[in-house]
Amino acid sequence: MSGTADVSINTCSRPSALRITDLRVTEVRGAPFHSTLVRLDTNQGISGYGEVRDGASSTYALLLKSRLVGENPCDVDRLFRRLKQFGHHARQAGGVCAIEMALMDLAGRAYGVPAYMLAGGRFRDRVLCYCDTDSVPDGREMGRRLRQRMDAGFGFLKMDVGIGLLRGVKDALIAPPGMLASQTVMHPFTGIQITEKGIDHLCQYVAEVREVIGYEVPLAVDHFGHLGLESCIRLGRALDPYSLAWYEDMIPWQFTDQYVRLSEAVATPICTGEDIYLKEGFAELLARRAVAVIHPDLASSGGILETKKIGDLAQEHGVAMALHMAMSPVAALAAVHCASATENFVALENHSVDELEQWSSLVQGLPVPLIQEGHIQVPEGPGLGFTELNEDLVRQHLDPDGPGFFAPTEAWSRERAHDRLWS
Ligand SMILES: [Mg+2]
Repeated sequence: MSGTADVSINTCSRPSALRITDLRVTEVRGAPFHSTLVRLDTNQGISGYGEVRDGASSTYALLLKSRLVGENPCDVDRLFRRLKQFGHHARQAGGVCAIEMALMDLAGRAYGVPAYMLAGGRFRDRVLCYCDTDSVPDGREMGRRLRQRMDAGFGFLKMDVGIGLLRGVKDALIAPPGMLASQTVMHPFTGIQITEKGIDHLCQYVAEVREVIGYEVPLAVDHFGHLGLESCIRLGRALDPYSLAWYEDMIPWQFTDQYVRLSEAVATPICTGEDIYLKEGFAELLARRAVAVIHPDLASSGGILETKKIGDLAQEHGVAMALHMAMSPVAALAAVHCASATENFVALENHSVDELEQWSSLVQGLPVPLIQEGHIQVPEGPGLGFTELNEDLVRQHLDPDGPGFFAPTEAWSRERAHDRLWS
């Protein structure tokens, strides 16, 4: 081969000979979240990053180390199929999904292409973000806060409208003793009902918000509280005139029949999905026409490739896909690549709008703030698109109860287990 041709070859990585040599984690607190970042190291000096779902234990990722060391990280699908038995719904999927992000990051870095290309290429080069905004009891003040988001460039909003706004409002809620304080009883079993007075109060709240922000910006609603289905239907019908973007997680996602009844009873799009693991978990909701919008969090749903498959399945049913996200830029960028590669994507959540500069600065090589004019530009750099973590900032925010900055994880290197799921 001529010397000229040699110059154009990227010799930094030989993908076919790439092997995982280590898995380490670091835990960050107050930047602004508690984030568990995962790093996969290799025999060629490149590393890939992922993030365990917000609130989940780093153990979910660490227990996968012995199943990954020695493997080629470019075999993303094969390794994901081997590992996915170690995930489950919600936070229990945190380890498997973090590893998938890190494998996609590594494969992209090895081949020198952005992760969206490994997922089939782009449908869009910038991703619309929607922002959550903390509740305040006064509707007009809530409207002003949302208006500030619009002034900052956000064109898609979300707020909470639920029984949390009815605490202290006389005769707004009916509940068995102690049940209003419960966080762990599923909605159908709480016995909590909303009264007509409670419904009127929440409708007035939303009317005041709409008076401030108008009707032209999409406004999704979440955190209704652990109400029974019939209360959800009565409240949902009463809120329909305010043309909200979707009602989110009104009931637990597991109750498909209740979602069918809810969807058929109200005229606003019904949405769920942030705790569902893998495509199979969405299949029945979609087949039964139980939802109009799915809302996976790819740190629970299975990572970039699986979540694209989930989006594609939803598209076949005429259902849109928004993405839940309350994590660092590492997970957010994984979501950005998935959103870029999924045709029926609508909007990606962000919970860090009030600390956007610091949040954005956790990674290097990308614009600060990462969100500009309400969008994230899809990175063109390899893998997830950032060059490195901002080690100084990560070290400033290390969780004192965590393992330190990617400390050795020798204890997880050797584990004997027969993982086969059949005999
Ligand atoms: Mg939610």
